[in-house]
Amino acid sequence: MAERLKTAKDIAGFMADYYYELDEASSSRKRKIAWCSSVGPVEILRSIGFLTYFPENHSALLGTRRMAADLIPSANAAGYSPDICSYLTADIGACIQGVTPLSKAFPGIEQIPRADVLVYNTNQCRDVQDWFSWYSKRFQAPLVGMETHRSVEEVTEAHVSSIAAQMENMVEPLERIAGRRLDMDELKNIIGLSRRCSDLWEECLAAAAASPSPLTFFDATTLMGPAVVGRGTGAVIDLYRLLLEELNERIERSEGAIDGDERFRIFWEGMPVWGRLGAHSRLFGDLGAAVVASTYCSTWIFSALDPANPFESMARAYTELFAVRSDNYKEKYIRERLEFFKCDGIVYHDAKTCPGNSNCRYGMAQRLQAHTGIPALVINGDLNDLRLISDEQTKTKVEAFIEQLEEAKGWNGCRTPGAGGGKSDIRYPSGGAM
Ligand code: SF4
Repeated sequence: MAERLKTAKDIAGFMADYYYELDEASSSRKRKIAWCSSVGPVEILRSIGFLTYFPENHSALLGTRRMAADLIPSANAAGYSPDICSYLTADIGACIQGVTPLSKAFPGIEQIPRADVLVYNTNQCRDVQDWFSWYSKRFQAPLVGMETHRSVEEVTEAHVSSIAAQMENMVEPLERIAGRRLDMDELKNIIGLSRRCSDLWEECLAAAAASPSPLTFFDATTLMGPAVVGRGTGAVIDLYRLLLEELNERIERSEGAIDGDERFRIFWEGMPVWGRLGAHSRLFGDLGAAVVASTYCSTWIFSALDPANPFESMARAYTELFAVRSDNYKEKYIRERLEFFKCDGIVYHDAKTCPGNSNCRYGMAQRLQAHTGIPALVINGDLNDLRLISDEQTKTKVEAFIEQLEEAKGWNGCRTPGAGGGKSDIRYPSGGAM
């Protein structure tokens, strides 16, 4: 049985501290709290003194705790379609029903933190705007947002300057809400910390290029929590240094993340199924398939962040996201990663309520398979709404897919475990993802 990474415990401790700090600030009102979308301009918020809360992390928790299906109908009754983002509908449903998974995960916390302001960036999708807009009315708190470009092939100066201008325009209203000015030195310092977090997270993900891989996508979805909610702080840097050390130790020992030999290496495109992380990890692992990399976990790599150019570099970093880019760009991005991670196959999760992160709907899977020869599988499901998932169908499809990979490789033992082991010095291909 592959041992759990020790750093996972430190990461869980970080997440607990994060939520307890928010809870204390929410009840004492000693600090102002800004809600922020997961790839929103958190560096600006921190430099004006806000604590930041990320509703998407809360929604993922609703998913992992398998609460979403009971909550979504309440949001549907309030007018939010069952077909739109199940992060949104589960989260609004939870608020309407007055429940939160935080109270089970972190005893003593009874409710989500209040919002003094809600700040979104539509770089991931439009749903965050509607989601935050609902809470803005609920809390009678101001809503501040920015509109991104879409289907961007190459990020140009025109894209960057227009996004940078929107970010600069946010500052004055946020300063009024916070009752203090943005400290430019502090902003530069925070951007430097965010960049360091991004680099370390990138190195952790790149460690999965080793064979056998010391990390799976399913581990990474929970290990990435601090990169989402804590980027721009010093504490996350220590955590990811520890994680990287531990992953490199695994590589030195040729110790893989799955039980048994790593027979196949899989790339995951799309959102995780939060309520099936363990089940999917076992499903693939039992078949000797390590899901080694994903577009999703790479979202929180922001290589363009540069303290010397605060607004321009934030604008570039938050526009380079995979979700913002054209299909041409996405296909090139995935091709590079299939090669870098030495993948034998790619699985697309067609998440019913998240079209923006379901890239298999317009022929991409077929185009990439024709171009690379790497077999592809599409599984239908959802990130949070388990009513949209057929476990039996997923299992049958994955088993058939692995048989297909065996045939494609004339299976007789595949990669030699340990081949490619040793500390990886390969840099992750450049470019952000979402
Ligand atoms: S990207 Fe998908 S999961 Fe995330 S907020 Fe948008 S619709 Fe929801």
